[in-house]
Amino acid sequence: MNEEKTKYVEVLFVMLSTGNNRPHQRLWKDVAGFCTHLSRFTKCHLYALRGYEKGKNSHEHLILLVPSDELDRFNDRFPSFQSWKAWSWIHEVSPFKPELKESAYTYTLVKHEPVLDGDSDTFFCPKYYTRCRRGACSHKATINWQQQLDLF
Ligand SMILES: [Zn+2]
Repeated sequence: MNEEKTKYVEVLFVMLSTGNNRPHQRLWKDVAGFCTHLSRFTKCHLYALRGYEKGKNSHEHLILLVPSDELDRFNDRFPSFQSWKAWSWIHEVSPFKPELKESAYTYTLVKHEPVLDGDSDTFFCPKYYTRCRRGACSHKATINWQQQLDLF
């Protein structure tokens, strides 16, 4: 068995907002829907680091990562993604800037409240490969959590 972990690379920095006072469970669910849509559209596995704002002004910030061996496909398909088809409220989808990595992580996960794996989904499978469609997606287990969290 090859135990080598897949490397995930940051591709997008995203802000998704909703109407005011939306319960955060609703926000989480809507954001997961956006990620599912993007994953299927790009045919790429997505790992999302998510942070949300508690209270009236409900919104989330996300750092989205793809496995490095799917990066070419992501870059190929993402330019035709129309974000307003997946999110009709105010939002911003920007390319991730490596030079701002540390502030992006701090902003998302420290200044905002982290969305944990038990709260809502943080991993999205496009169900593109045959093994994924058969329910045997191997990607989730290969996220190298330690590597992603090295900054802390
Ligand atoms: Zn999969």
